[in-house]
Amino acid sequence: MPESRIFQKLLLLLPLAYTPHPQLPHNDDGDREVQHWNYEYYGNDWGGTCRTGLRQSPIRLAVHKSLIVPLPRIVFGNYDKKLRSPLKLVNNGHSAHMDIPETRDNSKPFIAGGLLKDRYIAEGLHFHWGSPNWRGSEHSIKDQRFDVEMHIVHRNSRYTDLKEALNHKDGIAVLGVMFKIVQEPDSVFPGLNKIFAQLPKIKKYKQEANIVGSLTLGQLLGNLNTRDFFTYKGSLTTPECEESVTWTVFSQPLPISFAAVSRFWNLRSNDGYRLVNNYRSIQPRNSRPVYYRTSTNQISNLIG
Ligand SMILES: [Zn+2]
Repeated sequence: MPESRIFQKLLLLLPLAYTPHPQLPHNDDGDREVQHWNYEYYGNDWGGTCRTGLRQSPIRLAVHKSLIVPLPRIVFGNYDKKLRSPLKLVNNGHSAHMDIPETRDNSKPFIAGGLLKDRYIAEGLHFHWGSPNWRGSEHSIKDQRFDVEMHIVHRNSRYTDLKEALNHKDGIAVLGVMFKIVQEPDSVFPGLNKIFAQLPKIKKYKQEANIVGSLTLGQLLGNLNTRDFFTYKGSLTTPECEESVTWTVFSQPLPISFAAVSRFWNLRSNDGYRLVNNYRSIQPRNSRPVYYRTSTNQISNLIG
């Protein structure tokens, strides 16, 4: 264990001497002040709901263990409109995070459909990744992790802000998009590349970089097949692991270059060490239903 981490742990044992930083910047799932936490033990040392909840995330996903139902597809509202500048990518110590502002014509990108009964407004996005030896998606599909998982966090429009939404079972909707390293990506996604291009500028904790040029949320989905997805009721995957999330995880990955993924590996956490393997360990499903929506008629091919 590195010396500074031993030191931090000693500090944590001295509550009178150590006050957690009162204003940690963005947690990677929202603007919340949380005590110091990290991924050293893949989240197994986190407290509160993270330890006691029964609908925690991430979980293992598999078509043959899902209920295959004719759900509506996800509707993407204003995902084709350019977002207002400046768009800032920030190293918040746990991830590369971007707040999602209104569009240039003052509308808000939102989603609906799937299991969602309301309209959910896009609030922010961030990524989870591994390291040169480990793949770093949070959800696994058919017991396989992908290299990177992007989360686009949305808040139920019935609630005033993310903080309030976190207190409700139907408060949050997160889209999970998987990325898989391919030798030579046959398609290049300009929107995603605009984000990946800024990663070298936010290597250190609290560093920020502006996205260059215009960006729509739709561009971040590239040519993703959004008709096929898993969906279930779960939690945030970062403290305090609030059980307010309806997850929609698309089953088909987007391609990503090795060069882009290695930029994530070069980021540093708030303690100065490499920010790698920032994914939480798989959580018990506890007999929750997981639904799978597919545009394919031949279910037998999927399960085989
Ligand atoms: Zn996340």
